[in-house]
This record gives sequence, C-alpha cells and structure tokens, in this order.
Amino acid sequence: MSDRILPRDDLRALEGYHSAQVDVPVRLNTNESPYAPPDAFVERWLGALRSVDYNRYPDRSAVALQTRLAEFLGQPDSRLFCANGSNEVLQTLLLTYGGPGRSAAMFEPTYALHSHIARLTGTDVVTGEREADYRIDPGAAAELIASARPSVVFVCSPNNPTGTVEDRDTLLQLADATADAGALLVVDEAYGEFAPESALELVDDARPLLVVRTYSKVWSLAAVRLGFAVGPAWVIEELEKVALPYALSVPTQLAGDVALDFRAEMDARVASLVEERGRVFAALADLPGLHPVPSGANFVLVRVDGDAHGLWQALLDRGVLVRDFSRWARVEGCVRVTIGTPEENDALLQAMREVQA
Ligand code: PMP
Repeated sequence: MSDRILPRDDLRALEGYHSAQVDVPVRLNTNESPYAPPDAFVERWLGALRSVDYNRYPDRSAVALQTRLAEFLGQPDSRLFCANGSNEVLQTLLLTYGGPGRSAAMFEPTYALHSHIARLTGTDVVTGEREADYRIDPGAAAELIASARPSVVFVCSPNNPTGTVEDRDTLLQLADATADAGALLVVDEAYGEFAPESALELVDDARPLLVVRTYSKVWSLAAVRLGFAVGPAWVIEELEKVALPYALSVPTQLAGDVALDFRAEMDARVASLVEERGRVFAALADLPGLHPVPSGANFVLVRVDGDAHGLWQALLDRGVLVRDFSRWARVEGCVRVTIGTPEENDALLQAMREVQA
C-alpha cells in the first residue's frame, strides 16, 4: 500500500499544463512578443527599483498601477483588478464565482486553461462547440447558457488557438444571454491589442461582463507576470476579497506602471506584428497542403493536409519551434505559429517551403 497522501479525488485524473520549452534558434510556440521591451523601459524600471523599501510589504491594492492603468484605458479606478498574469486573474475569477455546485461554460476549441482552472477550482465545465470557421454561433450559445445556467461564461477573442475574433453583435448577444442567466461573461482578450474588435467599450457597472488582458504579449513582459481585469466595480470588490494579500510584488507593480510610458513604441510593435501576420498568412496560404486560419492575434493556426506532427518535427529539425496541435480535439491536423520578427518569420517560411516542397 502506498503511504503517499492522495490529492483531492477530483484532481487525480488531471494532467498539468505543458508547453515545450526547447532551446532552439527560432521559438514561435508560445505567442510571446519576439521583441525585448525598450532599453529605456528597463533603465527606468531598474532605476525605480533602487528606491524601494524592500523590508516592507507592497501596496496591497497596487493603487499607483491601477490608477495609471485605469487612466490609460479610460476607465474608473474601481473597475481594475491586477494579478500575476492573466492566468491568475482567471483563477481568482473562478475561485470567486465558480466552485463546487457551479459551472463555467466555454466554446471549444479554446484556451486550455479555461477548463483546466475550472477543474482545479472544483467548477463543472460546460462545453459549447464553435462553428466550422471557429466562430461562436450566438443563438446556439444563448441556448446552451439558458439551459446549463453556468455562473461564468468564457469567451476568448481573439481565440487561442484559432485566432478567431468575435464581432460586436455576437459579443452583445452573448452578454445579454449571460446576464439573463445570472452569470458573468469573461472575455479573455490576451491578444486583444492585435484585433480590430474589443469588448472593452462594453464594460459598464450595469453589465456583468469583464475583459481580461495581459502584459505578456504587447508589452513584451511575459517574464514579469502581470495581467488585469476590467469589469464592474461590484465584481472587482469581490475579486479583491479572494486575492491573496500583497500578491503583486513591487517590481511587478512598477513594471506595469513604467511600461505605460512606452505606448508609442509598443503600438509600433503591434503594427509591425499585424503587418507580418498578413505576410506570413499569405505566404503559408500559397504553399501546397497548408491552410492558415484567419487570425486577429499574434499567431496563426495552420491546418495541414497529411501529417501535422511530422511537419512540426521537420520544422524543429530545422531549428524552428511551433506549437503542435496535431492531436488536440477539434484542431487535429493543425500547428500554430506565433508571429516573430521578420527574420524569424523568414526562417519559418523557408523551413515550411523546404518541408512542403
Ligand atoms: N489567456 C490566453 C487566451 C492566453 O493565450 C494566455 C497565454 N498563453 C493567457 C491568458 C495567460 O497569459 P498570462 O498569464 O501570461 O497573462
């Protein structure tokens, strides 16, 4: 008999979340920014770190950061909640509004952490299906929400791993259906800055809708771990009660604040990544056996005729790491490529041409 203490029954079958961290010349597998943050940002941040009272806990409510961020987004301070990456925001949301006896709805294929964190928090998962083009059918979604009556509804837009962006009408219909069911609509906009459409303008104290964003992509700060939610003040108040005290370190708070002074640089990077996305998409579409899916994010899902895992391996053999979705339900036969620098994208396209020739 094993003398090991077993984890909670409902966690026993759960697998952890894995994405290969392989050391290769061209890493296009985790949708990070290919660019380091500007040198001037690093200088300013390190300068600010020199005058911190390290023996003291950080400002628990991260007031300076929240005020700056609220101003940046044109929202009242009361609508901002910050955490260590948007994953932690999602976890706090599910700890607050999910849990035993409650459920969270999501539309597959979508970001794996939505169902994973739901399960970790003892929240049942209700699965809706996306259309063949990966959009959400708002009518079918409304029916699912009305019958399953979840506490939380997740919509990822642009959706990971497909890149699909939901239009304003769909978001409004989903928001209405969610509100009618007495649930909270969480729009995960980790890639929102790369898309033409955002739910940020729909945030209102009278609507149970939150938008979740991150510093990991556009702000080139995946290493720092900072994400935030924008939502009704009465939801934010509840999240603050659940978050661990002093969860956000001083370096993280300062990084988030200082980064906002570099908007012009970051906007320029987003513009160039969007342009590169168009170039990569067109080049992939021209290659035999590859079918890129239209994307509003900093990545493109590619359906492969034949052996997608073999393609992934052949790219890796050429020093280019992309994400292998060949065995994922609903995106079988696909790989996902993050948009990198023009040179990285050239390396990807060159490798693709060699393999698909
Ligand atoms: N949401 C989506 C859709 C993502 O793809 C990611 C990152 N892979 C996250 C949230 C989490 O980002 P972070 O925790 O780095 O903010």
